[in-house]
Parts: sequence; structure tokens; C-alpha cells
Amino acid sequence: MNDKKEKIVKVGVIVALLMAAMASVSVMPIQAANGQIMNKPVYGTFTVSQEFGVYNPTYGWHTGIDIVPKYYYWVFAPLDGKIEATGYDWRAGDYIVISHIPGDSNQYRGYYPSEVWTKYYHLDGIFVEQGERVTRGQVIGHIGDTGTWCTGTHLHFEIRENGRYGTAVNPREYIRFGDGKDIW
Ligand SMILES: [Zn+2]
Repeated sequence: MNDKKEKIVKVGVIVALLMAAMASVSVMPIQAANGQIMNKPVYGTFTVSQEFGVYNPTYGWHTGIDIVPKYYYWVFAPLDGKIEATGYDWRAGDYIVISHIPGDSNQYRGYYPSEVWTKYYHLDGIFVEQGERVTRGQVIGHIGDTGTWCTGTHLHFEIRENGRYGTAVNPREYIRFGDGKDIW
């Protein structure tokens, strides 16, 4: 390994430790900016590799949005909630399911589903357990490429209104993802 590479690796490790320390004391940004209902589930620069609603002959309609982060691979709870399920599915890989009660924060759309559920697929780390309460901005997992319905490291992030198997909606209705260049 040459000097430059070694330096980059070292900086990467320091940044990772710093981020983990920050997350553990909940000093990550916790407010939803610009009137959006939820925070982004990722931090920093990212690209959207597939939008909600795209049809694929193999997988059917895309029920979420696929996010490929550039630097940071932690997954953050976008809103306070309760961990309803974690586990492994051969298609989704390691996954997390959270229920949220959006309440008054759901003014952005002018529509108030009683519950909003979010799902996170293809993780390679799960840091929460079923039944646990999480707060907005808390680190819950790590983005990976697990499961067969995955063609490269990314987060499949999904929002369903009114229950785990409720209506899948475009996450952009809840979160201002922009083009991925905006921070948080
Ligand atoms: Zn997806």
C-alpha cells in the first residue's frame, strides 16, 4: 500500500469513528429541514439509482427508492418510531421495518395517515432489535448488498402508509431528496 492510499484509509477510519461517536450521543442533525416530514435515511452525498414506481419485468413495480451513498453508509431513522421487525429475506437481504406515527409533523402533504411504515433492505449491519424505540437521526443500520434482489451496494428505502403492507408511496412525498448533492 503506498503512502497516499494509507493516508486515505487512515482518514476514512477516523471519519468513521467520529461519525459513530457523534451518532451515539445523538448530535446528528435531528430536525427535518425545509418542511419535509422525515429526514433522509442517509447522510451526505448520494445518488438515486432507481426511483419509486419504475417497472421491471423481473421485480415488478419498484415500491421504494434506491439510494447509493458516496461516503457514509450508515442508515438513520428518518422519524421517531418503533422497530417492528428485523431479519433476513432471500430477496431483501438483511432488513429493518419501522412504524412511525407522523402526527402533526405530517403537514407537508396535508394528509394524515395514522401510521407510516418504513423499510430498509440490503443492509450489512443491523444495530436495532424488534420492539426497540428509535428517535429521528439515530443510527439503525449499515448499507450493504445483501439479498438476491440487489445489484450493487445500495439502500432500498420504502414508505408505506397505514401499516406494514399498506400503500407504498413515493418517498419523495415525505423527504426532499433533491438530486443527492444536498447535505441532509
Ligand atoms: Zn429498491
